[in-house]
Formats: sequence, C-alpha cells, structure tokens
Amino acid sequence: MSDVIIHCERCGARCKVAELRDPEAKMLRWSKEPKGLCINCAVHDFLRNTYPINMLLAEFGPKGLLLPHIQKQFMGIMRAGFADAKPDEIDWNRIVENWDLPFPKKIKPNSTNPCSQQELDEIASGQRPGLGTSGLMENSK
Ligand SMILES: [Zn+2]
Repeated sequence: MSDVIIHCERCGARCKVAELRDPEAKMLRWSKEPKGLCINCAVHDFLRNTYPINMLLAEFGPKGLLLPHIQKQFMGIMRAGFADAKPDEIDWNRIVENWDLPFPKKIKPNSTNPCSQQELDEIASGQRPGLGTSGLMENSK
C-alpha cells in the first residue's frame, strides 16, 4: 500500500499514502484513502478556507506567503492544529506557482468562514472591497 503512487487531484504531483497518521491531527491530515491533495495544495486549501486569511490572499495575492515571518506564523498554526504534515515539507514557491489552478471543490461558507467562493473571486477581481481598504471617513472640519 505504501508504495502506491497517487497523483494530487489538483496539481498532479506524485504522492504516496502515508503510513503514519496522528489521530489527533486537526488540520493537514495525511489521507488514509489513496486520493486527495498533495501537501502544497492542501496548505492552499486550508488557507482559502480560513477567514480572514482567505480575504487577504484574495485581495493581495499569494506573494506574501513567501515572506519568512508569514511562514513562521503558519508553522505556529500547524503546531496548534497538531498537523500531520511537517513545516519543512511545504514548498511555498510551488504553492505560489500553482496559485491559480482550480480546486476540485469550491469554498463553502461555514461557522468559521463567512466568505463564499464568489465573494473571494470578486475581491480578487476588484469588484468588491477586501479587508485592506477601510472606508473613507468624512472630514468633519
Ligand atoms: Zn497538488
């Protein structure tokens, strides 16, 4: 089983089914089925479903992910979530390169993420303001 090569459902990267999984892992879990996403696509999938990171990424694009202090923050999130994946397995350059590839599943708003796919697409195309632009206040004198 461990030697079966599976291709990532999104980018086609070659992966294998992991032998060891942490049952406590709350995020970035290794798949026990021979299907799923590679680690880089899984990280992107996590980010695009996490509010307000998803709005900021829609507005400013993925380039910020290449900054060391942003990656360090993400490692903190991974530790807190008992992620199965290890931070040094993530290839941030690959994530940014593959940014515009479509995902097999659309984002659905839920209790922790109020943003729909459509809203994020509108922010990305500039039709809707994101978080980074605050309203212009009237100058009352
Ligand atoms: Zn992938």
